[in-house]
Amino acid sequence: MADKKVRVRFAPSPTGPLHIGGVRTALYNYLFTKKLGGDMILRIEDTDSQRYVPGAEAYIIEALTWLGIKFDEGVNFGGNYGPYRQSERKEIYKKYVDYLLSNDKAYIAFDTPAELDAKRTEIQNFQYDASTRGMMRNSLTLSKEETDKLITEGNQYVVRIKIEPNEDVIVNDLIRGEVKINSSILDDKVLYKSADNLPTYHLANIVDDHLMEVTHVIRGEEWLPSAPLHVLLYRAFGWEDTMPRFAHLPLLLKPDGNGKLSKRDGDRLGFPVFPLEWKDPKTGDISSGYRESGYLPEAVINFLSLLGWNPGTEQEIFSMDELIQAFSLDRCSKSGAKFDYEKGKWFNHKYLQMKSNEELAEMFQPILKEKGIEQPDSTVAQIIGLVKERVNFVKELWDQSSFFFVAPTSYDEKTIKKRWKEETPAQMLELVELLKPIEDFSPAHTEEVVKTWISEKGYNMGGIMNAFRLSIVGEPKGPHMYDIISILGKEETIRRIENAVNTIK
Ligand code: GLU
Repeated sequence: MADKKVRVRFAPSPTGPLHIGGVRTALYNYLFTKKLGGDMILRIEDTDSQRYVPGAEAYIIEALTWLGIKFDEGVNFGGNYGPYRQSERKEIYKKYVDYLLSNDKAYIAFDTPAELDAKRTEIQNFQYDASTRGMMRNSLTLSKEETDKLITEGNQYVVRIKIEPNEDVIVNDLIRGEVKINSSILDDKVLYKSADNLPTYHLANIVDDHLMEVTHVIRGEEWLPSAPLHVLLYRAFGWEDTMPRFAHLPLLLKPDGNGKLSKRDGDRLGFPVFPLEWKDPKTGDISSGYRESGYLPEAVINFLSLLGWNPGTEQEIFSMDELIQAFSLDRCSKSGAKFDYEKGKWFNHKYLQMKSNEELAEMFQPILKEKGIEQPDSTVAQIIGLVKERVNFVKELWDQSSFFFVAPTSYDEKTIKKRWKEETPAQMLELVELLKPIEDFSPAHTEEVVKTWISEKGYNMGGIMNAFRLSIVGEPKGPHMYDIISILGKEETIRRIENAVNTIK
């Protein structure tokens, strides 16, 4: 076991868009296996045809590809352990169901939903197990002949695991340590249904983990209650020696209050809980995604990496490679991680700052085009360099920089009241005359010229600069004035000042 190659799987059920918690699970699997030089498998667990949602599988693959979580094998990625879609593995499971049946580890049950309901009303807290199976209609209470006859007649049945009562079941969890339960609390779970000839999640999951030689099962805490049953299934098959190690990750919790993070929290507080936008094929409802909301994949990865794991240092910014190096399951916490989406924005801010102005210009150009603005990449990049520190998202660049592209047509009333004095128009026209002959319109040079003029005239520095800014920007905001006018150029600067003087009364 020691030098066995690490193999992990991400095994989503295609029942809808991948929740951000599912992305976190995929990420931790990826970090874990890549650190140890192992493989990552994508298995699609689609045996529940009732809950199958078209488009969900493609969505999962697209989302994880966008985020840079790469698979070595699986649906869409090939490999030697396929097929990787459980609906294509029907024949494989049948054999294992038969094995359990012929070894007295499972039995056939004919109880109809109505019969089960009746039992539930008759017996409080009814559970199909060692204490009740003797009063039900199954292959343990019926004779072999009766059982065979019912099957031949086409009666529907299920196969249930036969759980022996009063045994200790130990799940050795890499995050939670030893979790011990008594088998009597477990029910004889359905493993297989004749209705669709398909195994249930539990059986397919175990058989596939075994056949695909999975070494570690890393998944959300919501699967912890299933783990004892899974251990018993490994026992029933005689596969204890190759049983994967389990690690159940902590829940993602609401940003406010208690409980599990849900889509409703996202709607209520205004943040996405899905990696990509999702359009519900039935209702047409659209749920927002991190990608469409303007998050960079690196930021989402970094943000999620710290929701349930910590590096044990103060470091917060990690590239994927750094995460792979730093990650370990023993630094994962048992308790839930609050979903602090403000921190998500902070990460996006940080990652935006790491992009070059040219890269950001390329991302911003489509937004400018939409507004009918055409400017060369180099100018856009220069502008971005002046304002990017103020934004969390590329789309916010417009708010911070629109005045570079469109001259103000109105001027902030409050600022006019406060800053536009009797003498201002004359001073601004003087400024125009001062700027006119300047050849070198670089920020350093214009700054020197204007400052000298202000001090020689004995003008109030703040008064002049505020009026100047109002004329150029229309509002009391924006980067350094001399940086702004050097990008706008002399002509445009002068035009804006004259326009302000003519407009502001
Ligand atoms: N199909 C399960 C899911 O949707 C897989 C759970 C597991 O990893 O065992 O999460």
